Amino acid sequence: MKYVTEYRDAALVKGVIGEIRRTAERPWTMMGICGGQTHAIVRHGLDQLLPPEIELVHGPGCPVCVTPLELIDKALAIAARPDVIFCSYGDMLRVPGSGRDLSSVKAQGGDVRVVYSPLDAVEIARQNPDKQVVFFAIGFETTAPANVMSVLQAQRLGLKNYSILVSHVRVPPAIQAILSSPENRVQGFLLAGHVCAVMGYWEYPSLVQKFNVPMVVTGFEPLDIVQGILQTVRLLEADRLEVANAYSRAVTFEGNLPAQKTIQRVFMECDRKWRGIGMIPMSGWCLRPEFDAFNAEKRFDVEAIQAEESPLCIAGQILQGLKKPHQCSAFGTICNPEHPLGATMVSSEGACAAYYQYGRMLSAEHVA
Ligand code: SF4
Repeated sequence: MKYVTEYRDAALVKGVIGEIRRTAERPWTMMGICGGQTHAIVRHGLDQLLPPEIELVHGPGCPVCVTPLELIDKALAIAARPDVIFCSYGDMLRVPGSGRDLSSVKAQGGDVRVVYSPLDAVEIARQNPDKQVVFFAIGFETTAPANVMSVLQAQRLGLKNYSILVSHVRVPPAIQAILSSPENRVQGFLLAGHVCAVMGYWEYPSLVQKFNVPMVVTGFEPLDIVQGILQTVRLLEADRLEVANAYSRAVTFEGNLPAQKTIQRVFMECDRKWRGIGMIPMSGWCLRPEFDAFNAEKRFDVEAIQAEESPLCIAGQILQGLKKPHQCSAFGTICNPEHPLGATMVSSEGACAAYYQYGRMLSAEHVA
């Protein structure tokens, strides 16, 4: 398959790894922001091929993982209502709330449906005028265009029975929070290529200058990832503070301007709580007040719901690059994909799920 097969070529990957070995002269810690990159790194064992000077840590770029517990509880409360059809991406169904998950609400008779696009949820609303249809609009910048388009489409169709439960987060404020922490160990970032395909990378140079940390826009195939690592090592070794683009087949500096404009029309920046991490100022997108009619939190009066995380779960530290999954006392024992304590164990982009799925609990010495 064009643009995929050649980026999985083992010989090319080994060649780039060799160049990383020749380039890295000092120890460097770098963070892959995106959970999709984490899974590719662990699945292909890329971190185990790197020289000992390079440590990769995992970032918060897993939308399912950072959706706050109380928002899951709000989703559960709305989905359990008999007048509601609750639509979500499949990833969210097994994410634990305080006591149960969306799958158990469905098993108990709730009308919970998996959709592949928020526009499918709009169509369900059109076909079911006697029901309230709610879409669970979570994600980073990547999914925002489709989510805001669903609101505009519902408005255009005059639908009064469609709303979205929003938990949108943004990468630049998360990077700022990580770099502002006194515990920060990250010296370079692999930026998420799909986020930058939408937003460009014009938001990052000011962060690079403020925190003296280079960043490289990086894709998702093995060759993309090792090329992103190589570029980061080159910038670090040369003390060059800049944003490089190792994913130019998909990303431009400006990004997708019509998509950005559409997002701004429907969403505005707001404070957002991240699961396990806490509140990060202006790190989210919320519906603008003129779209209150499409705001499920207001429609169903669930804004006051609060929740407490399991004290055992250290996902917040994992998502900030401070710990790795096998360092959690619950990993693989009382927390596993069948019985997850935290979202990072069930999400397809979660670091704990990646370590479990690819057997890393048996090889902690390779990743410590
Ligand atoms: S292994 Fe489970 S309890 Fe531990 S950090 Fe991961 S999700 Fe949380």
